[in-house]
Amino acid sequence: MTPPRLLIAVIEDEEHLAQGLLFNLEAEGYRAHHEADGEAALRWLLDAARGAPEHRPAAILLDVMLPGRDGFSIVRALRDSGCYTPVLMLTARGRSEDIVAGFAAGADDYLPKPFDLGVLLARLAALLRRMQWQQSNTLPAHTLPATNRFTLADHIIDLDALEIRRHHPQDPEPSTIHLTVMEAELLRYLLEHPGKIISRSELLENVWHVREDTDTRAIDNFIVRLRRYLEPDPAKPIHLLTIRAVGYRFLPEPETAH
Ligand code: CA
Repeated sequence: MTPPRLLIAVIEDEEHLAQGLLFNLEAEGYRAHHEADGEAALRWLLDAARGAPEHRPAAILLDVMLPGRDGFSIVRALRDSGCYTPVLMLTARGRSEDIVAGFAAGADDYLPKPFDLGVLLARLAALLRRMQWQQSNTLPAHTLPATNRFTLADHIIDLDALEIRRHHPQDPEPSTIHLTVMEAELLRYLLEHPGKIISRSELLENVWHVREDTDTRAIDNFIVRLRRYLEPDPAKPIHLLTIRAVGYRFLPEPETAH
């Protein structure tokens, strides 16, 4: 039996662009669902997330400027309601603040408009591949990264499940933090390079696969979020250090003061 084709949600109010996307997604072998209004789109996405697996989108292409409700508020509402479907945001050209706001709201990737269709399909495929790597437990062991589970102080980081479980001694129950695909990818890169000073452009290139001219505040936003998840005091990080004018350094075992 052939597996059902992946469903991609296209949230875009420019009719011409939306029709082009639907046509090309279907030509690539995806199923596509289109919504043009922000409010209606959020309702559909939340219903789909609660529905049968074959009706859940594998990824969302999300425009920023929409009637009813903008793309940032849609992605934030999805994340707040526990829906972690990968989101590729379609931002206005040259609006670096859109990119930063999109990542801050919980988007996984972005593409400035107007975009090249081939680039969009490649970015979408990359996002789906990362999601599948992270969710698949059925792949042969050699195709999986060596380890997907890490311990950091009182946190268990499970990159397969896209979550961090935290058990503070004073808490009766462990708490679970859900990660977006890109948060997990960034965390994986840091975990795989302990102690190394890592520049923002290295992160953009190796985690986001985008070039250096991108606004690096997008990265800082992700770091702030990871600190909130992992640091005992996010204002005084001991694991995820800022190296001034360079980038970051990840220390699984904090250095003792000297
Ligand atoms: Ca629009």
